[in-house]
Amino acid sequence: MPEKVPDTPENMEICKRFCGPCPTFKPNELMNFRPHALFCARGKSEKPTDQIENKGCNCPTCDVLKNYGLVGGWFCIHGIS
Ligand code: SF4
Ligand code: SF4
Repeated sequence: MPEKVPDTPENMEICKRFCGPCPTFKPNELMNFRPHALFCARGKSEKPTDQIENKGCNCPTCDVLKNYGLVGGWFCIHGIS
């Protein structure tokens, strides 16, 4: 079962290493929309979904995803389901 991901500085540091270089993150300027990152804990980006061009997702290789038993990815687009 997936666990709820806590919004901690430690998880944010890990997220920076995966969302940061993600091909979807920078071109869509997701850093400029709340919640900025750590979407698996905080929920989807406030940037409208139809304005986010999907260029791939680094979540499947992220340690946060593995540590909390999450599946999938693209949490910036789809949020936490
Ligand atoms: S699973 Fe995705 S959103 Fe969550 S910390 Fe990792 S890269 Fe960031
Ligand atoms: S949640 Fe996935 S698709 Fe969205 S910015 Fe992070 S790594 Fe990229």
